[in-house]
Amino acid sequence: MSDKPLAIVTGASSGIGAATARHLAAAGYDLILGARRLDRLREVAEPLGATALPLDVTDPASVQSFCAQVLRVNVLVNNAGGALGLEPVAEADDAKWETMYDSNVLGLMRVTRALLPQLETSGAGHIVNVTSIAAIEVYPGGAGYTAAKHAARAVTETLRLELLGKPIRVTEVAPGMVETEFSVVRFAGDKARADKTYAGMTPLTADDIADAITWAVTRPAHVNIDTLVIRPLDQATATQVHRRS
Ligand code: NAP
Repeated sequence: MSDKPLAIVTGASSGIGAATARHLAAAGYDLILGARRLDRLREVAEPLGATALPLDVTDPASVQSFCAQVLRVNVLVNNAGGALGLEPVAEADDAKWETMYDSNVLGLMRVTRALLPQLETSGAGHIVNVTSIAAIEVYPGGAGYTAAKHAARAVTETLRLELLGKPIRVTEVAPGMVETEFSVVRFAGDKARADKTYAGMTPLTADDIADAITWAVTRPAHVNIDTLVIRPLDQATATQVHRRS
């Protein structure tokens, strides 16, 4: 068995999760990666020598079968999630809200619950939850997503209380605008609409967030980085963005 620490990254088939896998591999971690699109996941995993396993965090059976293959884990990055739509509450779509809550909140809980014993046994476990500035702010049209990310933040803070005295650190990473597939997914594949999100401003890259996650997990074991809020220079709040054109 490898003597390297092992990290699990959920939602590693694109964006922040894929970049985090690359950064953690470079920092000396063995990796197990999960996502629904196994072809995309394998493209990320193969060059890193990582294990790619199918995972749908909204499906309890999928989470169970994924976690059953995890014999040891030091770092769990709960990254799977995202937003669907930008409708005001008056036009809210139940199915979109349910999916957002399921992936961003229940999914995080399911994977964490299943892996807590292995994280504790490692003697130096670390849970990193990727929330969002949507966990600490709201914006028009964002209620389904901000409500879910606020909940993910509440779960993260609760975990820090419940795990006090155990060797498991809990870190929240809350990014602002990061150019990934996030907006393409939010706007149901409408790439032109997604591109407008970042028009005239410089967003963060997935590597910027992966760098922060890797920094947090490589601090000495007695140091718990609590919350990292990371925004582009061009973004002051969820609604105030400096655009040059
Ligand atoms: P992305 O490129 O769309 O990546 C999302 C990842 O989550 C994909 O790998 C996707 O993989 C996975 N995923 C979604 N639903 C899943 C499910 N039910 N089960 C397993 N995996 C699932 O977007 P991203 O920006 O990297 O997003 C990563 C995280 O950062 C999300 O939690 C998002 O809310 C958060 N975030 C993003 C931004 C931003 O501006 N981009 C800002 C703040 C926070 P599959 O589709 O293959 O399953």
